Amino acid sequence: MTDNISGKVVIITGASSGIGEATAKLLAAKGAKVVLGARRTDKLERIAQEIREAGGEAVYKALDVTSQADNDAIVKLAKDSFGRLDVIFLNAGLMPSSPVSALKTDEWNQMVDVNIKGVLNGVAAAMTTFLEQKSGHVIATSSVAGLKAYPGAAVYGGTKWFVKNFMEVLRMEAAMEGSNIRTATLYPAAINTELLSTISDAGTAAGMKALYDQFGISPERIADVVAFAISLPADTTVNEFTVGPANQP
Ligand code: NDP
Repeated sequence: MTDNISGKVVIITGASSGIGEATAKLLAAKGAKVVLGARRTDKLERIAQEIREAGGEAVYKALDVTSQADNDAIVKLAKDSFGRLDVIFLNAGLMPSSPVSALKTDEWNQMVDVNIKGVLNGVAAAMTTFLEQKSGHVIATSSVAGLKAYPGAAVYGGTKWFVKNFMEVLRMEAAMEGSNIRTATLYPAAINTELLSTISDAGTAAGMKALYDQFGISPERIADVVAFAISLPADTTVNEFTVGPANQP
């Protein structure tokens, strides 16, 4: 195949549902060797089984992205299973949005731990391998809330702004250092996944449900974009994608 995806070894965090699951299945169907990580291993087992039954290659491991040791272990699994690592898709995330005045401080900390530190831990785990190989591809899921402020998303949006800044600096430094590490950052709008289940604030949950009922599109559309980013030749990068429902203002 000449799509530049077949044979690549791809770690996907947050692979147990939504965007991660859809991306794992699409990339595996295109011949990638996928390494699935999330906390719900029952779901990972089912997804890996489906991929194998369809003729693809998949392994999985329990991964809590807040743990550096877990991130290191999934990179090790990729290399032990398939000999190298080409792409890490840092996609795990939570969105327990709420007004600041609700003072849901545990959820603020959870978002910082998963959405920010989870990305840092993943990059820290993969970087040495990418530098040794003199090639690598870091793809991360930010959000449209990482580009624009939304009431209810003070902390969630803040974590996603962090991802935008971190990824852009990583891209610039990689280019300056000549490390052949590419980056791509996704800014999805309303995508129908399990994400809204993480919202505990009743008012925010109702508002988001109405928005997603009206506009939400399938996570397979985000998978298409990830596949496109990976498919480009090594000398070319698309850095940022804003992707969402065509009819969402
Ligand atoms: P889902 O809730 O379906 O998927 C979230 C994934 O993250 C799950 O696989 C979950 O797995 C995983 N996850 C959560 N916490 C952890 C953790 N501590 N360690 C490892 N994995 C974890 O939602 P989406 O597919 O929508 O979310 C994927 C990404 O897309 C997130 O970063 C989200 O912020 C972002 N996004 C989504 C949008 C949308 O409209 N859906 C819009 C913009 C951005 P498990 O529970 O098994 O650990």
